[in-house]
Amino acid sequence: MRYSRQEILKEIGAENQKKLLASKVVIVGLGATGSSSAELLARAGIGHLVLIDRDVVELSNLQRQSLFSEEDIGKPKAVAARDAIHAINSEVKADAYPVDLECDKVSVLEADLILDCTDNLFTRFLINDYCKKNKKPWIYSAVVGTKGMVMNFLPASKVCFNCIFKMVEGLDTCATMGILNTAPSVISSFQVTEAIKFLTGQKASKDLVHIDVWKQAFEKIKVSADKKCPVCKGNYEYLEGKNQEIIKFCGSGTYQIKGKFDYEELKRKLSMVGKVQDAGVCFRFSAMTIFPDRVIIKAQTEEEAKVMYSQVVGN
Ligand SMILES: [Zn+2]
Repeated sequence: MRYSRQEILKEIGAENQKKLLASKVVIVGLGATGSSSAELLARAGIGHLVLIDRDVVELSNLQRQSLFSEEDIGKPKAVAARDAIHAINSEVKADAYPVDLECDKVSVLEADLILDCTDNLFTRFLINDYCKKNKKPWIYSAVVGTKGMVMNFLPASKVCFNCIFKMVEGLDTCATMGILNTAPSVISSFQVTEAIKFLTGQKASKDLVHIDVWKQAFEKIKVSADKKCPVCKGNYEYLEGKNQEIIKFCGSGTYQIKGKFDYEELKRKLSMVGKVQDAGVCFRFSAMTIFPDRVIIKAQTEEEAKVMYSQVVGN
């Protein structure tokens, strides 16, 4: 009975519903897109979900992160999401991993499909390396402001994430640009539709989809492989841990993250959203001291420092 409205769809049917129930999907990042995608997958009857997130629920998340409520504030997102998923559909197995996905933890990605719902490029390059090396499918998504993107990277694809995107920092983030809650909702709908198509063995899209919900703009972009792409040639730098740039300052609860960003532009952007104290060679913003080549962050844990870096600097 639970899936009767889905099974009568000509695109699904009883046989495909069984395939969904037998599927395992990993969701990396449980912000707005991840919350929404996890909820849609659980309601659609994907049998096993693995929920990964390094962050805890904050009040400012509740405007858009649909799995969480006020009583979840302070809880790890992965744990709060698992409990919410179980309340929605007790038939779904849901595992919570409140960890920072790094190269030594990629074994948790073992599944039929991986959904990228993260807020940073570092994790996406790591997922791309893992999936290229192990011939695993993943679906990229990204949202900021009123815009979002989504794209399938399947084992049969000739294009990988590194063919299209390069590592840059100082990107717009939800903390500096803001986010309209309808944008991740639309991107999640596209991502989960592609997931259902893939899991039931149906033809999935090859295009990069770009959407601006405010302008009602929808664009399908044809992308092609980069003949010089090192990942396509079998060089997995993120998977081998060559790009980890965090250094802990022993005992002081202070972390340093090296980065490449436009220092003046970042200072200008942050001065629009909060108090920036200029100190000549660097400036202070919240619990961060930002230099042109690195950021020093006061934080309880390395995870917390990385979350702050992703939110404020954007990577
Ligand atoms: Zn490539």
